[in-house]
Amino acid sequence: MKNDLQRSYDLKRKELETVCRSNGLALTIQRRAIFDALASRTDHPTVDQVYEDISEKLKGVSRTTVYRVLETFVSIGVATKISNPESKARFDADTKRHHHLTCIACGKVLDLHDPTLDNLVPREGKIPDFDILDYSITFTGICSGCRKKPLNKH
Ligand SMILES: [Zn+2]
Ligand SMILES: [Zn+2]
Repeated sequence: MKNDLQRSYDLKRKELETVCRSNGLALTIQRRAIFDALASRTDHPTVDQVYEDISEKLKGVSRTTVYRVLETFVSIGVATKISNPESKARFDADTKRHHHLTCIACGKVLDLHDPTLDNLVPREGKIPDFDILDYSITFTGICSGCRKKPLNKH
């Protein structure tokens, strides 16, 4: 029997196929491999981490290509780029509304699923000259791994 993670992963691969097709993009081996690498991780990898995962399998693929493909995924809506205090972009194949916990010491990003945060509306209601499409809340703090270590003073 398939577990939930496997099932949602299969769904995502189907979604990728459909969305690529409707955007007139060929689902190349590169795109598929990069998506697989992203969707199989839940730690919101950076371009470098995705590149490390696939560089063995896809010889000759460059970091720039990985970055470009990830940006394409964001623009067609099968992945999101998450905001975090680091300068490095991190990517997420989970595009359903959820929130994040970011460790300011190691940069780790964890998912936070909390229905009480899912239906927030600005007090003003509609903001003039701006249509809100989506949102995601990032809590910053210290992860359990870093809590045990003394804080790095910069
Ligand atoms: Zn940490
Ligand atoms: Zn996430």
